[in-house]
Amino acid sequence: MKKIVTKFGGSSLADSGQFKKVRDILALDEARRYVVPSAPGKRFKEDTKVTDLLYRCHAQAAKGEDFQETFDQLAARYMDIAEELGLKVDLGAQLDEINGRIAGGASRDYCASRGEYLNGLLLADYLGWRFMDAAKVVFFDERGFFDSEKTNVVMMALLADGVPTVVPGFYGAMPDGSIRTFSRGGSDITGAIVARAVRADAYENWTDVSGFLMADPRIVENPREISAITYAELRELSYMGASVLHEDAMFPVHKVGIPTIIRNTNNPQHPGTLISLEIPCDRNVPIITGVAGHKGFSVISVEKAMMNSELGFGRRVLQVLEDFGISFEHMPSGIDSLCVVVHQDELAPHREEVVRRIADLTQPDKLLIHDNMSVIATVGRGMVNNCGTAARLFSAMSRAGINVRMIDQGSSELSIIVGVDDDDFEATIRAIYNEFVG
Ligand code: ASP
Repeated sequence: MKKIVTKFGGSSLADSGQFKKVRDILALDEARRYVVPSAPGKRFKEDTKVTDLLYRCHAQAAKGEDFQETFDQLAARYMDIAEELGLKVDLGAQLDEINGRIAGGASRDYCASRGEYLNGLLLADYLGWRFMDAAKVVFFDERGFFDSEKTNVVMMALLADGVPTVVPGFYGAMPDGSIRTFSRGGSDITGAIVARAVRADAYENWTDVSGFLMADPRIVENPREISAITYAELRELSYMGASVLHEDAMFPVHKVGIPTIIRNTNNPQHPGTLISLEIPCDRNVPIITGVAGHKGFSVISVEKAMMNSELGFGRRVLQVLEDFGISFEHMPSGIDSLCVVVHQDELAPHREEVVRRIADLTQPDKLLIHDNMSVIATVGRGMVNNCGTAARLFSAMSRAGINVRMIDQGSSELSIIVGVDDDDFEATIRAIYNEFVG
């Protein structure tokens, strides 16, 4: 029996009209038998997400302020949906209980989690499906870390009967039964966890865009959509700033080889973006899959003659950063030079001390810090088999008058990373995109 887990984001379930679209999508394929909903999101640009209203209720209650107006606002969102869809669930009793618990000092996580909890109740009622409280199937350990093993065992057992089920996203339970949430956008993670537990054939993540774009549309006009991407490529692109899916949502499904498909609730005919472990490399594979980056890095560059024969040189440099709790992002090195790329704001508070300590420990000929650097990754499984990709990339940058300050290519050949001045960030992304995509 084929099984598909579907996760619907906040905008996909923002009002009764969106609920109807979700029901139609589910009805199209009977393999879609597990749904993970988010809390109602924005219905229009200036609207407020229910989760944000819940955080506000908690903050107001914690300060001893009156939170009733905020609560009424979010209660109205659910009441409208229930009324317009003619639902039977006793929403009034649920809302009263939540209201009472917020007034009684309920935790921030409990408050936030009610967005998904209530939306799950409504959706289950609307679909006539079973509702399974995430607090019964998603677990965190004493330290508050997600307990993957316990979750998998319990969830697998409880969902094994194949009964169509709604599991609200975003939260689970601590060992003492109290509620804990994932970080923002965490319903994506719940969806992936359910997909792994039921050994789904696919994890469909329904949202309000038709998949990933090859570049940030604020930088490149009308960038093309990515039809297929591997988990490894996606990891590189999201690490570099591209975002549609919560980063932690990849691991549960990636590990067991379940493909994720990003789909658009408002355009269900569109095939979206397929993310899988491997994609057969045929001639149609584009050379690059996407380009993304971040501004605001510093490059610490250390030069010393005969550095390569000095044992432990790199370790000493990295040790200094570790001692100050600064993580490094890249470390391209030459024969007598070594560069370490770090986040500028992480380095700033310790800058002088870091320079002094590295100088003491390594006695370099030259030690420089170059700030306001952007790091841009051009990612593509198609680059491996194509000679001359790097040459094209650097020629395009040179034609655009951009000075390359750093180059790093991982041994996987999955990406080429360049460092440029922050002022050249947008121009670099455009130059690379135009060279390979046109
Ligand atoms: N509702 C939560 C948030 O707004 C979680 C989610 O939507 O995935 O972050």
